Amino acid sequence: MSNETAEDVAALCADYQMDTYVRTATIVRGRGSRVFGPKGNQYLDFTSGISVVALGHAHPAVVDAIKAQAETLIHSSNLFYNEPVAKLAAKLSKCGLGGKCFLCNSGAEANEAAIKLARLWGSRNGGKYEIVAMRNSFHGRTLATLAATGQSKVQKGFEPLPAGFAFAEFNNLESVRAAVTDKTAAVILECVQGEGGVVPATPEFVQGVRALCDEKGIMMICDEIQCGMGRTGTLWAFEGYGVKPDAFTAAKALGGGLPLGALVASPAFSDVFTPGSHGSTFGGNPVACAASLAVFKVFEEEKIPANAAKQGELFRRGLEGLVEKYDQLLEVRGKGLLLGLALREPRAGDLLDELRAGGLLACKAGDSVVRFLPPLNVSDADLEEGLEMIADALDILFGEEE
Ligand SMILES: *Cc1c(COP(=O)(O)O)cnc(C)c1O
Repeated sequence: MSNETAEDVAALCADYQMDTYVRTATIVRGRGSRVFGPKGNQYLDFTSGISVVALGHAHPAVVDAIKAQAETLIHSSNLFYNEPVAKLAAKLSKCGLGGKCFLCNSGAEANEAAIKLARLWGSRNGGKYEIVAMRNSFHGRTLATLAATGQSKVQKGFEPLPAGFAFAEFNNLESVRAAVTDKTAAVILECVQGEGGVVPATPEFVQGVRALCDEKGIMMICDEIQCGMGRTGTLWAFEGYGVKPDAFTAAKALGGGLPLGALVASPAFSDVFTPGSHGSTFGGNPVACAASLAVFKVFEEEKIPANAAKQGELFRRGLEGLVEKYDQLLEVRGKGLLLGLALREPRAGDLLDELRAGGLLACKAGDSVVRFLPPLNVSDADLEEGLEMIADALDILFGEEE
């Protein structure tokens, strides 16, 4: 264990890491829904590493799988076949769209692969290349995924962005229809927008996009990076809408905490890439794939997506009780255990600070929404403790204003 203090660690990061993140606490260790600082101070972690450690920190099944695979083979590259990689690809097909996948290391890379696949397919099918994305979406930080992200604040200063992206209003089918041209190759959307404010799509919208894509012969791509892997109560969020996309992307929780991303396609789009079309040195790393297989096993044995739906209801009811109590709160948004507490004023940062001071970690989704991403196996007791901490923080922040 390290002997650096929290201040030492923070100073080192500030001096030697580029200033791309606003960091707050120093974390040394994690277990279940808790993380611990250098002095043993603890937090209830309702960020789950931004929706990554879906089974909580240091889940024994995931830790064991990582240890065993690390002792066997850490990396061999995509020049060779390897069992955990093969098994994960088969698993993703079986629980996905019945086709093939491309494995990579992050969400942005998975979406980058999806964009390239849509373009390659489009180039062979009438010279189509445009991607229609949604306003307030989030698809990643590489140039192409940034171009697909419908938030000008993250694009500013990086122009010219790659061309070929058009935007439509989320939950407005007519807007999507209007954005589609004879050059449109694909529509990409999150069934529940995460970073964009925790906004679920309506069933009519998702089903309408599916029908529109069928009518026009264009690809429907779901970004499941945040809303997938059980978080919204079904393994993939699109299942909750009764549709199947032509392809979807996964990352965040996919690798059980290790970097892993996937582009998963239906059979019709599984053979667009051929040798040389795309690649990644680390993509489909055996240790990350072994961790992922362990995650899927626990998901099946413990019915984790259904548990996320159940615990999500419990948590939502608690949050709704708080919305009743405080005028400063607008509403509870989201699905399953991807929940946002929307404030009337842009004071999400203040609430986060107050929550952290009281021992609860959460995220933002824009300046007016506090986003809660507890582990999907969170206990009733931890949820209740979290709700009490939220109630206390709201009381400190807004109590006297009542
Ligand atoms: C986090 C996220 C991404 C980007 O994933 P990275 O692993 O950070 O590159 C893309 N899409 C959605 C919906 C996300 O939440």
